[in-house]
Amino acid sequence: MKKKRIVIGNWKMNPATLPEAKKIFSKIKQISSDVTGQLVICPPATYLHALVSSYKGKKIMFGSQDAYWQNNGSLTGYLSPTMAESVGAKYLIVGHSERRSVAGETPDIIAKKVLAGIEAQMTVILCTGEKVRDRNAEYLVTIKEDLRECLKKIDKRMMAHVMIAYEPVWAIGGREAMLPSDIHGMTIYIRKVLTELYDKQISDSISILYGGAVNIDNVEDIVKDGEIDGLLVGRDSLVPENIMYIVSVANGK
Ligand code: PEP
Repeated sequence: MKKKRIVIGNWKMNPATLPEAKKIFSKIKQISSDVTGQLVICPPATYLHALVSSYKGKKIMFGSQDAYWQNNGSLTGYLSPTMAESVGAKYLIVGHSERRSVAGETPDIIAKKVLAGIEAQMTVILCTGEKVRDRNAEYLVTIKEDLRECLKKIDKRMMAHVMIAYEPVWAIGGREAMLPSDIHGMTIYIRKVLTELYDKQISDSISILYGGAVNIDNVEDIVKDGEIDGLLVGRDSLVPENIMYIVSVANGK
């Protein structure tokens, strides 16, 4: 049986205008009618409502790239999880490396956001990944500690609403993705950590995604040998033909 894998498209702070966003989305919609598989588009928050309202199908869902952990207050410029959910975001990316490096998000802040996203009825995509791969494999400890901290407010029951996106920071935005065999090794390791934090049943049932320089040239190998449940795609998610090709490969073409 063909395995279904979810693909998350993170548009980041692109494209520059709403008309451009509508144009890209319109092409994605058109190609999606010939492709099997689930795509979640995470556009900039200001485009969410317009894109959601222009779509009546089921293959494409929407997510928010971030949200604060409170739902209201004197918080100029922030987006709440409830606001994102109310305009159609069913998924919430939390802890992306760019939020950590640019906005200074710590595991403690991320932990609050994971909880807030679940409370707002969204599926949380928790990103984790090492900045460097050192020879002593210290990065394994980094990932274990990061998962422990970021999930500290989440009990077993809530884990049904969490996915883990393993994104080695050195691969994001780069030319080379991680080797599929190494991705496989990391999914095994993350499941081991989740067994320690929760139990084997939760560890087995949780979706582990890979992100970092996934493109049309490497997706087949990553899907074949990476043992992943989905992909998180940045740059190629803005190219309709490419992201829909990635969705089709992720679902066994
Ligand atoms: C990302 O933004 O999480 C990402 C994986 O980007 P890219 O696919 O461009 O490396």
